[in-house]
Amino acid sequence: MQYSNFNNHKKVAIIGAGPAGITCAYQLIKQGVQVDVYESSSQVGGLAKTIELWGQKVDLGPHRFYSDDTRVNKLWLEVAGRDYKMVKRLTRIYYKGDFYCYPIKALDVLSKLGLYNSFLCLISYLKEKVLPSTRSQTFEEWVTHKFGKKLYEIFFKTYSEKLWGIKCNELDADFAAQRIKKFSLGEAIKNMFRIKNIKHKTLVDEFAYPLNGSGMIYERMKVFINENGGNVKCNTKIKKIQKTGNRVTGIELATGENLLYNHVVSTMPITSIIREWNDVPDGVKDCASILKFRNTILVYLNIDAQNLFEDNWIYIHSGSVKTGRISNFRNFVPELNQGNNSTILAMEYWCNYDDVLWGLNDTQLIELAKDELNTINITKGAKILAGHVFKIPNCYPIYNKNYKDQLKPVEDYLDQITGLTVIGRGGAFKYNNQDHSILMGMLAAENILFNSQHNLWEINTDYDNYQEHSLISATGLVDIN
Ligand SMILES: Cc1cc2nc3c(=O)[nH]c(=O)nc-3n(C[C@H](O)[C@H](O)[C@H](O)COP(=O)(O)OP(=O)(O)OC[C@H]3O[C@@H](n4cnc5c(N)ncnc54)[C@H](O)[C@@H]3O)c2cc1C
Repeated sequence: MQYSNFNNHKKVAIIGAGPAGITCAYQLIKQGVQVDVYESSSQVGGLAKTIELWGQKVDLGPHRFYSDDTRVNKLWLEVAGRDYKMVKRLTRIYYKGDFYCYPIKALDVLSKLGLYNSFLCLISYLKEKVLPSTRSQTFEEWVTHKFGKKLYEIFFKTYSEKLWGIKCNELDADFAAQRIKKFSLGEAIKNMFRIKNIKHKTLVDEFAYPLNGSGMIYERMKVFINENGGNVKCNTKIKKIQKTGNRVTGIELATGENLLYNHVVSTMPITSIIREWNDVPDGVKDCASILKFRNTILVYLNIDAQNLFEDNWIYIHSGSVKTGRISNFRNFVPELNQGNNSTILAMEYWCNYDDVLWGLNDTQLIELAKDELNTINITKGAKILAGHVFKIPNCYPIYNKNYKDQLKPVEDYLDQITGLTVIGRGGAFKYNNQDHSILMGMLAAENILFNSQHNLWEINTDYDNYQEHSLISATGLVDIN
């Protein structure tokens, strides 16, 4: 590819050092662009950062890196080098006292639900096949169509309602389309009888994990950027993107200081950008004000035991507890626990700002988590040594039914602003995994460097025009074309 000289004159500010922002900076700095990254927290990596706790390393909830996009995997390997291991994925669903394999396996469901309930599941699945629902616009409709009503109620409804805080018939089908894709009961049955070995996204049973936690990748990018003439400035919050008319001129720090840039890449919540501008048309402002994020509370518990359970994480569907997922960091790579004998679990809670849960103090949240652990009884009375709370605002963009009707006018408005690129999970209002955000960062850099015309809004939708597919294995990339 040809790089033009104008890159030497470009001065780019990047807001947020999560996977999207720091990847973009990493790619730009390689081509000699002047880049400054501004991160409000004390560490890079965003939601995928790794923190130190009780002498061990933990992520913000479980972080499995997975991509079948060769571009993303090559970049990840370029940064990780050989410092990763393949981790066997074991994730199960806790429902009414039983642990079900996830992704669901037909035989497993049969043995745990019993013949009668399994029969009901099969009947409701077949009913969908013979008399399919005509609409698949909501999460409930989409999943019912794929799995039948009964399985939807057991395996998807309670968990999704805990996560999003809204009824599944108010949740857009996009969430299912992005996360469950084409997997269905039919596939599970075919896999059971080995009729067809379906390599589905949710069925991949191994993943590459960095020896120092998922955040290692982004910490290394930071070092590279700083060593090659860029600046990653942590503890620096950006209040506003400055513009004159429809042209970006720079940024305003939370301290009030103004800095000039001719391009800004933003991963801050899309709604925050709009809120700070007073010349945005009312219709666009109204749309942006309807877009909402869901918060996460992580309660870490340090348990005096080593072999509590084998899962990397367990989805908690049971309605008798508020927690939705429990991760076990002892089951990623041994390097994380750095020789310690205890096990750190992270219990996830999801809520809105005005929920009682968000207002609880750390002591109350730790007590709640301890009680719920007892209710589920997966630690079998092992001693809890300590607790720690981590609150994450604006963690999940909420895909309310028809949310795209609100998002589209905001996208169109932002597209008119010269010198602005908006990417990332909060930035683009996309329920991204790391790979989507890394790809957004890479393609945003190409747009800036070569004036490429990648439509960044389309990443992490059903749109996929990329032809080279590969997976990361213990020895590097494996072609899967
Ligand atoms: C519990 C949990 C589990 C997950 N599990 C997985 C998984 O298994 N696999 C996977 O691939 N992904 C997983 N993810 C998703 C993954 O963490 C995200 O996709 C990824 O971190 C998104 O990167 P991003 O850069 O788009 O956004 P973020 O990670 O949100 O980064 C945005 C950054 O911008 C900063 N920022 C925001 N506003 C400002 C401002 N005004 N000024 C300066 N800085 C600002 C933030 O502090 C943050 O660091 C999980 C996420 C969570 C919460």
